[in-house]
Amino acid sequence: MEISKVLISQEEIENKVSELANEINSKYKGEELVVIGILKGAFIVVSDLAKQLDLDVTFDFMSIKSYYGSESTGQVKIVKDLEYDITDKNVLIVEDIYDTGLTLSNLKKLLESRNPKSIEVFSMFVKKEVAQDPIEINYSGFEIGPEFVVGYGLDYNGKYRELPYLAVLA
Ligand code: 5GP
Repeated sequence: MEISKVLISQEEIENKVSELANEINSKYKGEELVVIGILKGAFIVVSDLAKQLDLDVTFDFMSIKSYYGSESTGQVKIVKDLEYDITDKNVLIVEDIYDTGLTLSNLKKLLESRNPKSIEVFSMFVKKEVAQDPIEINYSGFEIGPEFVVGYGLDYNGKYRELPYLAVLA
């Protein structure tokens, strides 16, 4: 497998992150925010976003596994849980890509059960047409087609996460 084309350039990604950071800064002005990055894929977008947030912000990370089998759909296994209590906090979940939507919808339900003050969802890339369990994405970077993509945090067998652009493998 090799990179066959650049789908979204570094410059386009940088501009979009700035735009979304501005929206988040306006929305949470004067309030506290807990940003929850979903490992591993979101580590790049969380760090780019972090540098542009002008808020009373705390960062935490979670690592989860979703099960897609017919008997276990809807389950998320927590591989690494949050360090902080999110009760009565404004929470922003930051994910790399929204594909079927199962990961984010299950995770949102799980975090809602911990009684945060509010909860919103950020996804850098969205594969809209394949969503099986759609949830509202409050901040979305780019809508893309169903092809498998790498870069900007996204991997293929652990590789390519470091690329500063989004690319298609072939
Ligand atoms: P969902 O539960 O929305 O189907 O899955 C989201 C997760 O699937 C992402 O966090 C990511 O790990 C993985 N994923 C979905 N589509 C892609 C893709 O095109 N490329 C890569 N590298 N991972 C993907």
